[in-house]
Amino acid sequence: MPIFYDTHAHLDYPDFAPDLEQVVERAQAAGITKIISIGTDLESSRRAIQLAERFDCVYAVAGWHPSDAPRAPADLRGALRELARHPKVVALGETGLDYHRLPGSRKNEAGEPPPAATAAAEDQRYQSKQAELFRQHLEVAAELGLNCVIHQRDSLEDTLAQLQPFADRVRGVFHCFANDAAAMRRIVAMNSLVSFTGIATFKNAQSVREVIAAAPADRFLLETDCPYLAPVPYRGKRCEPAYVKEISEVAAQARGCSLEELSAATCRTAQRFFRNL
Ligand SMILES: [Zn+2]
Repeated sequence: MPIFYDTHAHLDYPDFAPDLEQVVERAQAAGITKIISIGTDLESSRRAIQLAERFDCVYAVAGWHPSDAPRAPADLRGALRELARHPKVVALGETGLDYHRLPGSRKNEAGEPPPAATAAAEDQRYQSKQAELFRQHLEVAAELGLNCVIHQRDSLEDTLAQLQPFADRVRGVFHCFANDAAAMRRIVAMNSLVSFTGIATFKNAQSVREVIAAAPADRFLLETDCPYLAPVPYRGKRCEPAYVKEISEVAAQARGCSLEELSAATCRTAQRFFRNL
């Protein structure tokens, strides 16, 4: 059976609390032999590490999600260094920039947007906190020789601009990649990776399948981003690592290669990217 890894899962989320053992067992039975549980804040990162201690096949990534930036401490670097000492922490993240639904565009209870000046100031504060946290992840990653799991939404230019000065020391994996092939090539040119979720199986995602087909064999990964984004035929249900199988079938088809070839390429790429995987 061809083997795959789930390089981006949120196993610490409460969605998995009732049946985590079985979730991990089903992944193993489906040939998903390694699962990387991604932290979204310090508590979530610690829970990911605990899961990595509990299950041989689970690894952890430690970091703070950009959408949660307002709650983050001003300086995360000490905590990141501390978490990264664990032998099963394989990268830092998820970190990056997310400009989707900025706070200034949120309406109040009466359905009115905030005054323009207030909105602009709020957005500015939110975005600069995200940028600050992203820079801290990159700094610590460079210092420790780790790579970063990058979350990017509606912010490609700023994300690439922030990564660029670190590109000779830190590689990023742009997870849940849904931009076009031109963006993929810019990421690859910076020595970084892209990673594809169950979105690839959606009927209306032909553009994602085209990017999968165009990606160099050593520059992309597969992931679920579970509990979100369950692939077809589970779309809309809770997603879990076993479903990398469905994603791999669509990816192999898009690339016109065998599952064995896809398995060898993606596992090798993950092994090179994540420390001690
Ligand atoms: Zn995620």
